Amino acid sequence: MTDAIEYDVVVLGAGPVGEVAADRVRAAGLSVAIVESELVGGDCSYWACIPSKALLRPVIARADARRVSGVRTAVQGPLDVPGVLARRDSQVTHWKDDGQVGWLNGIGADLYRGQGRISGVRQVTVSGSNGARQVLSARHAVVVATGSSGAVPPVPGLAEARPWNSRDATSSQEVPDRLLVIGGGAVGCEMATVWQALGSRVTMLVRGGGLLPRMEPFVGELVAESLREAGAEIRTGVEATSVTRTGDTTTVELSDGVSIEADKILVAAGRVPRTDDIGLDTIGLEPGSWLTVDDSCRVAGFDWLYAAGDVNHHALLTHQGKYQARILGAAIGARARDGAALSTEPWGPYTTTADRAAVAQVVFTDPEAAAVGLSLAEAEAAGHRVRAVDQDMSSVAGTGLFADGYRGHARIVVDLDREVLLGVTFAGPGVAELLHSATIAVAGEVPIDRLWHAVPSFPTISEIWLRLLEAYRDGA
Ligand SMILES: Cc1cc2nc3c(=O)[nH]c(=O)nc-3n(C[C@H](O)[C@H](O)[C@H](O)COP(=O)(O)OP(=O)(O)OC[C@H]3O[C@@H](n4cnc5c(N)ncnc54)[C@H](O)[C@@H]3O)c2cc1C
Repeated sequence: MTDAIEYDVVVLGAGPVGEVAADRVRAAGLSVAIVESELVGGDCSYWACIPSKALLRPVIARADARRVSGVRTAVQGPLDVPGVLARRDSQVTHWKDDGQVGWLNGIGADLYRGQGRISGVRQVTVSGSNGARQVLSARHAVVVATGSSGAVPPVPGLAEARPWNSRDATSSQEVPDRLLVIGGGAVGCEMATVWQALGSRVTMLVRGGGLLPRMEPFVGELVAESLREAGAEIRTGVEATSVTRTGDTTTVELSDGVSIEADKILVAAGRVPRTDDIGLDTIGLEPGSWLTVDDSCRVAGFDWLYAAGDVNHHALLTHQGKYQARILGAAIGARARDGAALSTEPWGPYTTTADRAAVAQVVFTDPEAAAVGLSLAEAEAAGHRVRAVDQDMSSVAGTGLFADGYRGHARIVVDLDREVLLGVTFAGPGVAELLHSATIAVAGEVPIDRLWHAVPSFPTISEIWLRLLEAYRDGA
């Protein structure tokens, strides 16, 4: 072990969140070390967002084309599976991180490869694969950005059956014949969409009543309808009670007495924080726990420890984690500069207000699901006086031009006391790029009166905004 090397800030984990944190503290004029045990770029780049969207893009492109007369007959064939997988491999740069390492070098961050563990106050010890250990000490802050991994529910036999996790599902080079997906959230729905289209026969097991339960109920209904039309089976209100594997076949017993055989099981049943082996015990925190942070992403009870991205459990999304990293970078910079007493005002520059009010999420299924802010149920549960306004997306010319027989739905949730939007949800082909208009309206708390002056172009899908405003005005 060599002497400790001192930096202003040490970042643990070089996923998208750690990278942005490093960039922002460098921009604040501080020195930074960043520690990574796998690939610089994290799960997002190699086993989550990028490969899943790379796999989905051809599926959605074909589905969209099949909804346009004149093109439909040209795209009736099956997907070119090797071509789809090769494009995915290229999008993840063949699981090599040279490009992102070059970027880190460019911002002046020092990369340490190995497992990083907090080993005391303001201190991280890195254990390299060659057995070498390096202690890093931080003058100002340690940032934990170690992400999350897939949870495996305690179903007897499940772990022994060697199920796929989200990493396997996004990186597989094989198409399983029969794929059983446990879980009906974003990962389960997206991966069911991919593998059904690539040739698997997919069965989904959903414990609750429908898919995508965190979004407005109509979203899950539209996605389920489409998955069923594509040939997938969706079993709701059931759980796996036991799993046995014989040779290449896995048999799953369900709570309703049915038993299902599959060649692969994908477990997409939630996430756990990657904090079990990062030395939390050395500073009195519970290994394996989510890290509770304030609005500047500082861990409760510490003046030097920060946590951003999946580990703080605010919103397990890359863009929200990067947003948190921008804020904590500025906060660490300000505190290092002059110990600034940071604003706790809701609109202060160093507070993650969007985590509470305006988290945006797109689920890239067919149809796409896009939501920001609160659902009606969430707004009511939070005590707001609200009205939901619904519109069929086919009410505007743009959707009819986009697809024959366009199916989709939109909802705004209006705060009746302030006449601003608390939440917006769109479900339908091509709505992903519509979402940011809603994010601006919700995050900016744009009064409904002003929204009338944001005139959507004709004939775009965005004209759904007019229909929603008209329906609100007319009391529909
Ligand atoms: C299948 C799937 C699809 C998804 N799609 C989307 C999407 O389309 N859009 C979206 O916004 N979000 C998506 N997400 C969520 C997104 O992947 C995460 O929110 C995001 O990766 C979190 O970034 P992070 O930097 O916190 O963690 P990660 O990306 O997990 O990065 C953490 C890094 O820390 C490293 N690390 C961990 N422990 C240590 C240690 N002790 N020492 C050194 N290094 C360590 C890891 O190796 C990793 O590189 C998806 C998730 C999944 C599973």
